[in-house]
Amino acid sequence: MLRLYSSLGRAVLPFRTVAPGEVRMYVCGVTPYDVTHLGHAFSYVQFDALRRYLTALGYRVRYVQNVTDIDDDMIAVSRREGRPIAAIRDENDRLFRADLDALNVLRPTAYPYATDHIPQIVEATAKLIERGYAYEVEGDVFFSVERFPRYGALNGASLEELARRENPEAKKAWKRRHPLDFLLWQRTEPGEPSWPSPWGAGRPGWSIECTVMSIAHLGEQIDIHGGGRDLLFPHHENEIAQAESLTGRSPFCTFWLHNGMLRLEGVKMSKSLGNLVLVRDLLQKVPPAHLRLYLLSFHYRSDPDFRAGDLERLVERYERLRAAAAEPGPPRWPAADDLPTAVRDTLDDDFDVPRALEALDALAGRVLSGAAGSTERAALRAGLAVLGFDFAGAPGPATGWLEPGPAGPK
Ligand SMILES: [Zn+2]
Repeated sequence: MLRLYSSLGRAVLPFRTVAPGEVRMYVCGVTPYDVTHLGHAFSYVQFDALRRYLTALGYRVRYVQNVTDIDDDMIAVSRREGRPIAAIRDENDRLFRADLDALNVLRPTAYPYATDHIPQIVEATAKLIERGYAYEVEGDVFFSVERFPRYGALNGASLEELARRENPEAKKAWKRRHPLDFLLWQRTEPGEPSWPSPWGAGRPGWSIECTVMSIAHLGEQIDIHGGGRDLLFPHHENEIAQAESLTGRSPFCTFWLHNGMLRLEGVKMSKSLGNLVLVRDLLQKVPPAHLRLYLLSFHYRSDPDFRAGDLERLVERYERLRAAAAEPGPPRWPAADDLPTAVRDTLDDDFDVPRALEALDALAGRVLSGAAGSTERAALRAGLAVLGFDFAGAPGPATGWLEPGPAGPK
């Protein structure tokens, strides 16, 4: 029985879904103003492996990942380079997808752009004003956190505690009724890309984009919402407030999964510190499967510390697994029953991939020493395939619902 830790409630809970046999999963995507760094890859590889495991468990999985293609950073890069935002988006998006393809991350079932959802965002904003959850001040529209009593529940903090935290959304403070009120719609400055609205020319706030795209592509209630721990506040807190105020349904999402933050030689990896490790650069030096193995050798909630020599140290481990699992044959999706019991047990335990890999190392040892029979060899291959290492070939469809194996839901 799969159990997952949800940030909402801060507990490990038995996994359940709104609709039987189906998983609706949304993972916050990138703002394509720059290329993919290792922190992105850690998040998307972990959620990809989870998606594959859910499929092995017999669920149909719908996985949506957005593209935030309008925000302050996009506008700043566009100005600096004198190129349209769409050109910057398309270029970085192509590189991003190529990086993730190399890491054998399956394409999302839907990959929506924020700028393709402006009418729905305007409509949602208007609805929130109409219902008294939002207010307009000179072309800016704010969500009123005091109107939503559960604001802070995801972070387990009161409005007062949250107001003391660093908040990237806290612009135009003088216009806000409460310091935590956040922008649903913002008036644009001259020269910025803008869209017409009942409040004048403007552009969407950040968090409303995800809420609108999640509802548009997955419905009013979803099962898993993923993203980095840095999105817990204010982004995901805002998403819950918006969605539940719009739909009147609670919870918006049952399982809030947050991956840890990658560090470099003990220091937080961030653009502002200038110490980003780019996936492209690493892939010049090591095969993508080694990088995937590295990223999965940490629990998704941990904070991996990337250090010089880490990838080189994985080569032997990877080669042992490959040698033990290599066998010609058509690729196929593994089902849960094909997996070694120890792999299933550890993945069921809050998706503990590092321990599952240890079980696979042990199994590979038995295979290589000749102690394992054909059932164990098949189990080893299934265990690796469910984590996205298919040594017989690349499995699977990348569009539409990700279907389970022929056995169907269990
Ligand atoms: Zn988001």
